[in-house]
Amino acid sequence: MAYSYDDQNIFARILRGEIPNRTVLETEHSLAFEDIAPQAPVHVLVIPKGKYVTYDHFAQAATEAEIVDFTRAVRAVCEKLGLEPGAEGTGYRLISNSGGHGMQEVPHLHVHILAGRPLGRMVM
Ligand code: 5GP
Repeated sequence: MAYSYDDQNIFARILRGEIPNRTVLETEHSLAFEDIAPQAPVHVLVIPKGKYVTYDHFAQAATEAEIVDFTRAVRAVCEKLGLEPGAEGTGYRLISNSGGHGMQEVPHLHVHILAGRPLGRMVM
């Protein structure tokens, strides 16, 4: 499907510096910042800097450099915050809501990183 990108969405405005954010990590093609309404002790959003609406859009249209950068940025946030799965009491959940049934609120691709407590089983 063809995507049209809304330049006024809140994450576009964050990327342009029009709205402040609490940055956790920035790379050439990606930005990670704290969610304004955290659902867990750690709740970070990672977004590509490019104009992609959903994961589907990104996977279709992004360059390989952007995809590698974004994938590694998610991991780098988890490493920076000491969340890498392995030791007892670590690990995290990644969520990317896409489209209507995914209940996506902001139409710029983002991955939620949730951590800091046992998150329970996924409930549909
Ligand atoms: P979605 O439902 O689209 O997957 O998630 C959007 C997320 O963006 C929500 O968790 C919401 O709290 C967060 N959010 C919305 N507006 C802002 C904002 O202005 N700043 C930050 N840091 N997060 C926001």
